[in-house]
Amino acid sequence: MGRSNGKAFLTGETRNLDAKIPETSTPREVSAPPAWTGAIQIALPRWIAPFLSARPAIFPDDDRRMALVLELTREQVRVGSGGPFGAAVFASESGRLLAVGVNLVVASRCSIAHAEMLAIASAQQMLGHYDLRQAVPGGCVLFSSAEPCAMCLGALPWSGIDRLVCAARDADVRAIGFDEGHKPPDWVEGYARRGIGVTRDLRREEAIAALREYVVKDGEIYGAAVTSEAGSDDRDAIEPPAPR
Ligand SMILES: [Zn+2]
Repeated sequence: MGRSNGKAFLTGETRNLDAKIPETSTPREVSAPPAWTGAIQIALPRWIAPFLSARPAIFPDDDRRMALVLELTREQVRVGSGGPFGAAVFASESGRLLAVGVNLVVASRCSIAHAEMLAIASAQQMLGHYDLRQAVPGGCVLFSSAEPCAMCLGALPWSGIDRLVCAARDADVRAIGFDEGHKPPDWVEGYARRGIGVTRDLRREEAIAALREYVVKDGEIYGAAVTSEAGSDDRDAIEPPAPR
């Protein structure tokens, strides 16, 4: 199977995440929490399956791989199905697209539902292994519309991804109000020491344009965190940021 089937996690539920996300994410007062179903349920928006079926299965070079991720990100903003972030996992040698993810934090009511996390988890579950290095000869590369936040930064080494390619910079994401969390300033070198290569700024301006389009469309800068965290070590936060 060469493509994502549109589900980030395989569950029995197919909740419709195509609907425009609510204007407010203010949590309901929960007097009696609903019964736990025993499953974490996150499904990618339904537009993703036809989006992928109209595109090739193989992406032979970095530029075409990032172009796909940015198309995915623009479509996410256009449809309004979540935050302005997209990601995809490819087999490094063949260029086969294995899985995609978009940011579904608000729609799935789950703070870990970042594009990178969903693309990785989807690839792992589809391939049947938590370690992508073992699942795919030649390894896997993650393409992301933006540099990883603190959470995704920590998740990548456990996933078996052995290369990361990003478009927008951390500062570009913070500039529209999202928090990236506390990241060591030498994270690229830290990845290199673990054998994970990083390529930055590929089609960066295009990714910035998608972030700006999200703001123009009044996309939600969700989370409303009140934090003393000043952001990355190389930039001063102007406003208290919101986690993405
Ligand atoms: Zn993240």
